[in-house]
Amino acid sequence: GTDPRLLAISAAIRVVPHFPKPGIMFNDITPLLLRPKAFKDAIEIFAERYRGMGIHAVAGIEARGFMFGSPLAIAIGAKFIPLHKPGKLPGKTISEAYALEYGTDCLEMHVDAVQPGENVLIIDDLVATGGTLRAAIRVLERAGAEVVECGCIVGLPKFKAGYRINGRPVYMLVEAI
Ligand code: AMP
Repeated sequence: GTDPRLLAISAAIRVVPHFPKPGIMFNDITPLLLRPKAFKDAIEIFAERYRGMGIHAVAGIEARGFMFGSPLAIAIGAKFIPLHKPGKLPGKTISEAYALEYGTDCLEMHVDAVQPGENVLIIDDLVATGGTLRAAIRVLERAGAEVVECGCIVGLPKFKAGYRINGRPVYMLVEAI
């Protein structure tokens, strides 16, 4: 049967139609952050999966990937790497641009955040088209990292079983509405 913790996590995600623009079904994870048990359970489910796998770093995508990626890094004894939107990091950076529905965006990482050959897990709140995770995988792999998996709280159903982005597996806790 389904892990009862997943039901509570799913119930703690609020779907807001037409935000931030018409036609988008926005999956708001902030109610999950307001439920300490469900928030902790989400981190613990990830930690149960990734503990003992030799993961050196958890890379979180700005901003909601930071909220789940940093507690997970602590839980599994890994370092945390923020993947930022442009212009936020003061050191030497490596960046990867990616296409949005309209326009482009970019992820930046400090070049010295990861060493070649290190095993990295990427965390974000939600996967929709997969474009954001693809850019995150690219920037880490260009720095020499091994991307073990991409983990998300919520995903569109197509990412449920065995789906890969750039050859890297995707894992999600619950399905988006
Ligand atoms: P994508 O690159 O299309 O997979 O979009 C994933 C990124 O955009 C994540 O960082 C999400 O936080 C955000 N995002 C995209 N679609 C949604 C949605 N329907 N609800 C909430 N966040 C979304």
